[in-house]
Amino acid sequence: MASEDKKPKAACFDGEAARSLVTELRKTFDAGKTKSYEWRVSQLKSLLKLTKDHENDIIEALRTDLSKPVLEAFVSEIAMLKSSCEFTLKQLKRWMVPEKVKTSITTFPSSAEIVPEPLGVVLVISAWNYPFLLSLDPVIGAIAAGNAVVLKPSEIAPATSSLLAKLLGEYMDRSAVKVIEGAVPETSALLEQKWDKIFYTGNGKVGRIVLAAAAKHLTPVDLELGGKCPVIVDSNINLIVTARRIIAGKWGMNNGQACISADHIITTKDFAPKLIDALKVELVKFYGNEPLVSEDLSRIVSSNHFARVTKLLDDDKVAGKIVHGGQNDQNNLKIAPTILLDVPEDCLMMNEEIFGPLLPIVTVNNLEDSFKIINSREKPLAAYIFTTNKRLKEAFVKNVSAGGLLINDVALHIANPYLPFGGVGESGMGSYHGRFSFDTFTHKKAVLYRSFAGDASARYPPYTPGKLKLL
Ligand code: NAD
Repeated sequence: MASEDKKPKAACFDGEAARSLVTELRKTFDAGKTKSYEWRVSQLKSLLKLTKDHENDIIEALRTDLSKPVLEAFVSEIAMLKSSCEFTLKQLKRWMVPEKVKTSITTFPSSAEIVPEPLGVVLVISAWNYPFLLSLDPVIGAIAAGNAVVLKPSEIAPATSSLLAKLLGEYMDRSAVKVIEGAVPETSALLEQKWDKIFYTGNGKVGRIVLAAAAKHLTPVDLELGGKCPVIVDSNINLIVTARRIIAGKWGMNNGQACISADHIITTKDFAPKLIDALKVELVKFYGNEPLVSEDLSRIVSSNHFARVTKLLDDDKVAGKIVHGGQNDQNNLKIAPTILLDVPEDCLMMNEEIFGPLLPIVTVNNLEDSFKIINSREKPLAAYIFTTNKRLKEAFVKNVSAGGLLINDVALHIANPYLPFGGVGESGMGSYHGRFSFDTFTHKKAVLYRSFAGDASARYPPYTPGKLKLL
C-alpha cells in the first residue's frame, strides 16, 4: 500500500521539541566532542558497520517502500554508501590538514594557512527515491567535517525512515547524531531552528521553502534538486550498447524515479525509428513481455505519484504518441517502460520533470539544434550525449550547462567520488561526494600569522607626503 494511504502518525515533534534537540546537539558540539579525528573516524566506522550488519534489513525496507529489486538496492544504495564511507575514511586525515598558502608583500613578514573547521550543528533533509543513500551520504560528509547532525528522512519511504531511526539510534553517538522522522509539520518545526547548515534533497518547490526558512537565520543551504535530464543520441554510435545504457539509466534506476535518470531523448528524425527498435528489443530482453510483473522493475512509490505520472500520459497532446509500453496496474502501483515519439514541446511531460518510467523522444533535423533546446529550458541536473563525433562532444561540453555532463552513458558520473555532484540554477546549489562532501560541511578559516619583527611605520599616522611617495 502507498505511504500516503496509511494513517499518519500523531505529530509529537513540535517547535519546542525541535528547539531542545538543537540545544542538546549544540552543547555536544560546543564541548568539542565531534571535532577530533578520532570521533569522526569512530562514527564513520559505525556507519559502515551498521550498513554491513544490516544489508538484508535495508534491502527489505527498500522492497517495502519501492519494490526495489535486490541487485539495484545493493548496487545503488548499499554499495554506494559503503564505498563513500570507505573513501572518506581513507582520505579524512589529509582533508583535515590545514593548507599552507602563499603570502603577499603587503603582509611581509607573515605566514598563512586555510584551516578547515566544522560548521556546527547541521540538518540533513532527504528524499524518498534512494532513501538509504540520500539520507546517509550527506551524513558522512557532516560527520567527516566534525559536525553534530540531525537527519530527517522522507516520510514517503516510511520503512527505510524507521529503519534509519532505529539503526542510527543503536550504532551512532546519540549525543551528536539524531534522526527525526516525520512529514511537513516535523520538518517545519526543524526548519524554524537556527542551524549552521541545511542540506536538502528533493523538489524545487520545497527547496524554496527551505531556502526561505534558512534566510531568517542566515544559514547556508545546499539544495540537491532535480530537472529534466536530456539524452542526445547521434547516429554514429554502437546502437546496442547505447540502448542498453539508456535502459539502465532510465528504467534500471528505480523505474525512472531518479534525479539523474534519462528524462527525454533528443535525436534526429531519421535515426529515431532505429533507436526505438533497439530499445524495444533490449527492453524485452531485460524485463520480458510482461514488464508489469517483472521483479526487476521498481514500483511507483505512492498513489499520489502514480496519479502524477499517469496524468502525463492522459494529456490530449500526447494522444497516439506511444510507440512502446503504456500499460499500468493501479493496484500494484506499476507502470511499464513507455516510449513516446515526437511529443510536442508544449505537452505536460515536456514541461515538468517526469520522474517515472515514461521516455519521450523529441526529434530534430540537426543534432546541434538540441543544444539550443536544452539551453532554452531550466538547467538540468545532468545532460548526456551518445556520439563518436569528437567535434560534437567538444561542442556539447562547451555549450551545454547542467549540474554534470556524461558522454556515452547515463548516470554513471555519480559513481566517481572525484567529481562534485550537484545542480546549477533550477537543479540546485552546492555539491557533494568525496572531498566535496567534506567541504560543503566545512568552513575554510583564513589564518594569517605575523611576528613583531619588520614593523613598517609607513602604515601609521601621521600620513605625511613622504609616506604617500612610498606607495
Ligand atoms: P520528498 O517528497 O521525499 O521530499 C523531500 C523532503 O522534503 C522530505 O524529507 C519531506 O519530508 C520534505 N518536505 C516535503 N514537503 C515539505 C514542506 N512543505 N516543508 C518542509 N519539508 C517538506 O521528495 P521529492 O521532493 O518528491 O523528491 C523528488 C525530487 O527530488 C525530484 O525533483 C528529484 O529530481 C529530486 N531529487 C534530487 C536528488 C539530487 O541528488 N539532486 C536526489 C533525489 C531526488
